[in-house]
Amino acid sequence: MEITIELSRLLNELETLASFSDAPAPAVTRVVFSAQDLAARAYLHKLFCEAQLKLRTDAVGNTFARWAGADPNVPAVGTGSHTDAVPHAGRYDGTVGVLGGLEAIRALQRSGFRPRRSIELLAFTSEEPTRFGIGCLGSRLLSGTLSPESARQLKDSDGKSLEEVLRQAGLDGSLEDVRLANQFYHGFVELHIEQGPLLERKGIPIGIVTAIAAPATFRVRIEGSGGHAGAVLMPDRRDAFLAAAEIALAVESAAKDTRSADSVATTGVCSVFPGAVNSIPSRAVVEIDVRDTDLARRDGMLSAIRAACEAIGAKRQVRVEVDLINADAPAQASPLITEALSASCQALGIEFMPMVSRAYHDSLFLSRIAPTGMIFIPCRNGVSHRPDEYASPEDIKRGVQVLASALAQLAQ
Ligand SMILES: [Zn+2]
Repeated sequence: MEITIELSRLLNELETLASFSDAPAPAVTRVVFSAQDLAARAYLHKLFCEAQLKLRTDAVGNTFARWAGADPNVPAVGTGSHTDAVPHAGRYDGTVGVLGGLEAIRALQRSGFRPRRSIELLAFTSEEPTRFGIGCLGSRLLSGTLSPESARQLKDSDGKSLEEVLRQAGLDGSLEDVRLANQFYHGFVELHIEQGPLLERKGIPIGIVTAIAAPATFRVRIEGSGGHAGAVLMPDRRDAFLAAAEIALAVESAAKDTRSADSVATTGVCSVFPGAVNSIPSRAVVEIDVRDTDLARRDGMLSAIRAACEAIGAKRQVRVEVDLINADAPAQASPLITEALSASCQALGIEFMPMVSRAYHDSLFLSRIAPTGMIFIPCRNGVSHRPDEYASPEDIKRGVQVLASALAQLAQ
């Protein structure tokens, strides 16, 4: 079977998709269910129909485009990604997995291949958290990681509820029907740009993702006591910022102490009240991001940080309140998928390397209900979520070839 990729057509489609944007080119801003997002969805629907795929859109707007296999009674093979884009982003994040997935299916159709399992292309709703403050909205609901009740609580910054926004977008189904059964898919593969520099640095065109790290987020509020920076003497102080500073150092230690390169922890936000040079900080809020590919080790870091917060609060006599905002479990890729991908690379003579996804993707949530894996392709300087995000045509082509070959294997 010979798989040929129609690269110039795919590049044109990526360019057209990028034109649905609220920011002038080369920037792309496409927030979920904005007018531009709806126009982009209509464009994609047209392309899916032209490829003779059968369309279904669920109540949250996840789109499924199915190439029916010879045996309708066995689970399908899934592929896909997202097409929403954060403000002033580029044109490749997510879109390469949707349009590349479409081209992989068309390439298989052209080759004369007849799949036994159906092959289904997914375009997930709101992978980016821009509008509703939560990432991977579509795939969370689809995998049961987010309940319909919790989804109904979500509001955008204008105070519009998710359901209101969905109704305005013409989606009036029940969120209860979004959840897919476990093992609905025989396997799921997502093609995505790396969003990091490793492949480019090593000169390797394909990364096979072995694990997806997931962030856990803490918000820590510290309440001490303020006062005049000259009048209150050092022994009498309960400085909230100094407790925050010690907590930030404890966060660093929590990650370093695991002695694993996959453990990372960051204090990325620290706000101090009242924020005057001659006032002792009475309040501080820090936000902490903790990631690992191993759940037990990640949870170990979370416990260490909690314990440090408590000890530092007691020592400095400040009140410390720790809120765990979010703690998604990391995922391991399925050997079913990683083996199909490495076999595809070998058959195509394409060099590859195993790697960890440090960012999370819809695949993190698909992995809860199906054997899942990801293909990474290089992006220039590791840049993403910026207008100068770039993946070369050759790298996109290789990614689609590997995807098509893996889909064919999995669908047999
Ligand atoms: Zn993405």
